Parts: sequence; structure tokens; C-alpha cells
Amino acid sequence: MKKDTFQFNGDIPKDILFGIGYDIHRLVFGENIVLCGVKIPFDRAFDAHSDGDAPLHAVMDAILSSLGQKDIGHLFPVNDDAFKGADSADLLKQVLNIAKQKGYKPSNASVAVIAEKPKLAPYLDGMKASLSSLLGISPDRVGITATTNEGVDLIGNGEAIASFAVVSLEKIK
Ligand code: MG
Repeated sequence: MKKDTFQFNGDIPKDILFGIGYDIHRLVFGENIVLCGVKIPFDRAFDAHSDGDAPLHAVMDAILSSLGQKDIGHLFPVNDDAFKGADSADLLKQVLNIAKQKGYKPSNASVAVIAEKPKLAPYLDGMKASLSSLLGISPDRVGITATTNEGVDLIGNGEAIASFAVVSLEKIK
């Protein structure tokens, strides 16, 4: 065998799925926003059909994507009044049920929130606890980072908050 040929001698994890999700919501005048199921006092609110919890929406899309399913826009259509003002934590439970029916459960989640304001540092621990509880996984398998958009574009202007999520799922034994 040639010396430069890659050889992997460890266990290759089977039955692990990965998905990526993204979401953004515009902000309007209000009293609070919900991020990862945590209500955060703010002088803005999400302009959204549901509670607008962008990181949870990104997490749901990541789960659905990992399973080869269509996104939450298909699952919870914005023109369906059933989801008006919906608690995204409840929607996530439905998405987790879909995963369960397919024999999978989350094993880790990595979430980035991009917000110019409010300062999220005081809320990150609570958001992590909330997300780990919602996903039914240990907090040390959940990572939440927050960053600003350096004043660039809509997000940097404080007009919207966006989120990326990568979630891995493992086969339920
Ligand atoms: Mg959304």
C-alpha cells in the first residue's frame, strides 16, 4: 500500500446522521424574543407566524434534513392557522416524533445565533439547558454560540436575528 494512502483504523460510526438548518426572522417592536425556548426581555419581538424561535427552527430543519425529510415550512405551513403563534418547543416535539418513528434520536446539537442585540451572553446557559432538555440529550452534547454580524446588513442593523444549526442523530437501540 502506498504511504500516502489514508487508512482509518478506528470504529467508523454507523447509523449516525447529520443535518444542517438555517433560519432568520425579522424583528418588530415588542417586549421579548424567544430563543431555544427561553424568553428574553427585549424591546423587539419576532415578526413570525409562530413564536419565531429562529434557533429552534434551525434545529428542526437540521433534524428533518438529516432524515431526508422536507423542511418545517412543509410540515407547519405559514398559511395554516393551526400554527399561528405556535410554541416552537411544541413543534420540535413533533419533529422529534418523526425522528423516533424513523428509529432515530438526537445525539448532539451545535447552534450558532447571529444577533446584533440583545447581548446573549447572560442567556446562553439557560438556552443550552432548555435545548438539551427539549432534545433529551446531555448539556455537554449541546453547544450554543452567539455572535454579532459586525454591523453588516439586516442582522447587523438589528432588524433580524438568524441561526444555523447542525444536529447529529443516532439510531435508537
Ligand atoms: Mg422560522
